[in-house]
Amino acid sequence: MENISHSLFGAALAGATLPRDRSPLRRRVFYITGLLAANLPDLDLIYTRLTPPPLGYLLHHRGHTHTIVGLVALAVVPWLITLIPRVRKEIGDALGRYWLLVALALASHLLADGWNSYGIHPFYPLSNQWLYGDAVFILEPWFWTLLGVAVVLNIRYWRGRWLLAALLGTLPLIGLAIGLFPWPAVALLAAVGGVFILLLRPLDEARRSVIALVATGVFVLLSFNLNEAAVRQIRRADPDAAARTVDLILNPRPANPLCWDALRLTHEPDDTLLISQKSIPLPSAASPACGANTSLAWTTLARQPLAELRQLASENCSVNAWLQFARAPVISEGNISDLRFGNSLRGNFTTLRLDAAAAECPPYLTKWTPPRSDVLGD
Ligand SMILES: [Zn+2]
Repeated sequence: MENISHSLFGAALAGATLPRDRSPLRRRVFYITGLLAANLPDLDLIYTRLTPPPLGYLLHHRGHTHTIVGLVALAVVPWLITLIPRVRKEIGDALGRYWLLVALALASHLLADGWNSYGIHPFYPLSNQWLYGDAVFILEPWFWTLLGVAVVLNIRYWRGRWLLAALLGTLPLIGLAIGLFPWPAVALLAAVGGVFILLLRPLDEARRSVIALVATGVFVLLSFNLNEAAVRQIRRADPDAAARTVDLILNPRPANPLCWDALRLTHEPDDTLLISQKSIPLPSAASPACGANTSLAWTTLARQPLAELRQLASENCSVNAWLQFARAPVISEGNISDLRFGNSLRGNFTTLRLDAAAAECPPYLTKWTPPRSDVLGD
């Protein structure tokens, strides 16, 4: 999840946990703590350079700091903040609420990152397995609207209020201009945002925040329901392929949960990994939501011989490490890429060049369970 949404979660949680008795400084301590704790796990971006690219980013980002143990360790930062005498005095008798805010904001980061197809491995070191929500796109304007309205209304200074409102209002328009969001979705976002402003304006800070968080929770629950509907539809339409399916990677379109993009990985009888793609309108009558240029039938993207992957993994230390991340691995033209992030065989941010240097073991590797150990073996 991008950091605007993480920050909105942190700010909404601060608004919800603030004690009734609040000085301006106490408010500031709670808001800064909420924003900080909700973004702290992404501190791992500082040390991704320990391992050469692209492995450093793939293995260390959403790595150790995105685990339950990592969150407990990160709680040291807000604890250190409480040691500043002035801050300690402002928190005063609200220390319980302060720690509730820290716990919720840290947890919100891990949860929100777990909702998309990128994955997290929260139970490390007990389990090194990746978990994927496959239910919310990594950038979701519905969060900007549902949480954003409450956070904007809660800002006391008109300059800050208008600045955030302008940012949250402009981002969907930029998405619309570059073709990322369809105009009916942006129009609906604006309408819901307008209703939300009328609804939340008369309420107090805590109520606004709680309602925004509950509405966001409902959106996420609906997204998980739609994910299940998509999985059911795919399995029912082709039971033979369902039996050979090793993974289904699902993503709703951003701002547009009526259209879902699916990658299906099947283990074929000739020991190849067949990766195909299609879009699924939900409900099926909503096919215009997927746009005119979208294939509603399965299209083959790649057929990857597994023997080639297994051999490469045993000979090439970088590939072996890279497979700790890749969910849809494909070798093409001297590169290996994860097709989860763009279906072009020309590559994406995951692409690893298969040259002699890559055979050397890079430093500081991790121990995440390779998502495709189901067909590659350990
Ligand atoms: Zn993160």
